Amino acid sequence: MHPKRVIIIGGGASGMMAALSARKNSADVTIIERNHKLGKKILATGNGRCNFTNVDATPNNYNHPDFVNSIFEQFSVDKTISFFKQLGIYPKIEDEGKTYPLSEQASSINMLFEEEIKHQKIHVVYETFVKEITKQGDVFQINTDKDTYTADRVILATGGKALPQSGSDGNGYFLSESLGHHITDVYPSLVKLTLDSPYLKHLDGVKFKGTVELLDYKQIIQSEFSDVLFTKYGVSGPGILQLSRKANELIHQNKDVWIKVIIINYIEKLDVIERMKDMKDRQIKHFLTGLIHHKLIDPILKETKIPKDKILQELTKEESRNLLSILFDWRFKVTGSKDFTEAQVTAGGVRIDEIHAHTLESKIMPKLYFTGEILDIDALCGGFNLQWAWSSGYVAGYHASM
Ligand SMILES: Cc1cc2nc3c(=O)[nH]c(=O)nc-3n(C[C@H](O)[C@H](O)[C@H](O)COP(=O)(O)OP(=O)(O)OC[C@H]3O[C@@H](n4cnc5c(N)ncnc54)[C@H](O)[C@@H]3O)c2cc1C
Repeated sequence: MHPKRVIIIGGGASGMMAALSARKNSADVTIIERNHKLGKKILATGNGRCNFTNVDATPNNYNHPDFVNSIFEQFSVDKTISFFKQLGIYPKIEDEGKTYPLSEQASSINMLFEEEIKHQKIHVVYETFVKEITKQGDVFQINTDKDTYTADRVILATGGKALPQSGSDGNGYFLSESLGHHITDVYPSLVKLTLDSPYLKHLDGVKFKGTVELLDYKQIIQSEFSDVLFTKYGVSGPGILQLSRKANELIHQNKDVWIKVIIINYIEKLDVIERMKDMKDRQIKHFLTGLIHHKLIDPILKETKIPKDKILQELTKEESRNLLSILFDWRFKVTGSKDFTEAQVTAGGVRIDEIHAHTLESKIMPKLYFTGEILDIDALCGGFNLQWAWSSGYVAGYHASM
């Protein structure tokens, strides 16, 4: 029997892993990549440090845990760490299980993958864009902007829509549709949120560490503690990125979405009331100056309609109540988010009920496989998305080569 000719469309994280996995079973493997290098997006991950996995990752970190479980059972986080150690990457585990290369350079991952891909004699066709895939009998024909290729198996590893300048601009969805697949709604995830507030221009640049919560109308559904940064369009910071997945999902369902920001975090409400008593003969603006970022003072006093020169002991009961309320619970209406050019991940993708959960082979077109972010699988920040790319890449590569 001649070795299976496996063509992988896209040489990102999952495509490179799929190539090595397929080659292990002696398949004749080719990667077609539109960029002049492999793994372009990896360079941007983890702020250039590449948070390549999370040692605490479980299927429950993902939107479809059962589907992910059947893949993790075949290529777990432990197997991923061993794979990377063999590749030459020593893992550095940080808080909450986030794992980076000890070199703290995403480029080391790319270099070692490229080296191994060369060593394993995997063909790589660079600067070539796959335009169309067709199948006649058992053979796939892959038409690119340059040449035409034939294959026994095709793995679609073209990524989602996040950071389109890296090469994954959503064109893989059209290729999938042309082969009979359906795409769920897709929206940006791990992305800055846009807010509707008259104070944004004033708040632009305000940064503090605090709690931010996501509300579906009035019900709190997610809470994060991190740096919060107001901008002229809305709000950003690690906690906000984590909230953005759910926020965009709810907005797509036409829900009324809010965030609650807790401005004062390290002291209790009672301490603030005590302090108000201690400073009762001082102006409110002076009272607030030592407590919160100075750019927050004007918007807060405008919102509570308290004159800034007012002496604390002259505040009415209602004014005091409003002031305390806004310091510990300031709500902003979420209108949406920045677009895919600023998002880290795509929520949604090729529908997983059209894919065999064990092999990642299409149920619609036999011998076509899917891997990575093109599928409707995603997770929050923390190394989980790349873990999915490695696990799904390995599994798709393995089954495609059989
Ligand atoms: C700024 C940023 C930071 C991130 N940080 C992290 C992190 O620290 N940890 C983490 O776990 N995840 C992180 N992610 C997410 C992670 O990078 C992705 O989930 C992962 O790269 C997806 O892998 P993939 O192989 O599915 O797709 P990609 O890595 O996007 O690769 C797809 C490849 O296919 C190529 N391609 C597309 N269409 C075609 C075509 N028609 N013909 C030929 N080639 C094509 C593209 O050029 C690209 O190289 C980050 C993402 C971004 C944008």
